[in-house]
Amino acid sequence: MKQSEYSKIITLAKRAVEEYKNWDEEEISTDKENSVIPEQKMTKNTIYPKKNKNAGELLEDLQKQVCNCKKCPLGKHRLNAVFGVGNQYADIMFIGEGPGFQEDHKGEPFIGKAGNLLDKIIEAMGFSRQSVYIANIVKCHPMKDPTDPELRSNDRPPSPEEMSVCKPYLDKQIEIISPKVIITLGASSSRALIQTEEVISSLRGNFKEYMGIKLMPTYHPAALLRNPNLKKDVWSDMKKVLSVLKKG
Ligand code: SF4
Repeated sequence: MKQSEYSKIITLAKRAVEEYKNWDEEEISTDKENSVIPEQKMTKNTIYPKKNKNAGELLEDLQKQVCNCKKCPLGKHRLNAVFGVGNQYADIMFIGEGPGFQEDHKGEPFIGKAGNLLDKIIEAMGFSRQSVYIANIVKCHPMKDPTDPELRSNDRPPSPEEMSVCKPYLDKQIEIISPKVIITLGASSSRALIQTEEVISSLRGNFKEYMGIKLMPTYHPAALLRNPNLKKDVWSDMKKVLSVLKKG
């Protein structure tokens, strides 16, 4: 290995360790800039060009379908369909269970505290929020009281039926983007794709496969906010993902 390549790897590793240290909840920025998606931005870990040349158009068409969808009751009371954000050529796709209050209001997945922590994780891996792709199993906000989208603490997990009706949209997103690795965040999204009843603590950290793509289940960022001790497990899972990406 050339000296320059060696130095680059060392620099990258040092930066990742620093970012990891900054995952503490107190360090999470509440800066609204973090939840705005600017134009796609390449980062050093992003490999271009590749894949489906029409990915952008295909995703736009699919997004229009989702925005008009009323296939399940969640479509009736949502404020915004939350399609997904990021790069159509992403190597990594992060998948959560469904939008919450803030996501419903903004129409964007993973914002707020848990979203900001996910951003930190992504940055620690050497990527940016704009260079990966982030989506959910269901695209509309599951609410305990669906008649009041303005009510706080109204979030609930999507039901298996809701996930099953909406999942074809996610499958299409995965097909278009064709990531190298899928990372499922939390029990619901992991179980929905792997078709298992196993608990997330035993699922995480072990690669599975979905649609012929490697899938790494890990904890949801909200779980890390509740229990910071889980951060080391997530970082261990992310290192396995990075190792797969490096092997190509
Ligand atoms: S959750 Fe999915 S299936 Fe249900 S209305 Fe929204 S987009 Fe359609």
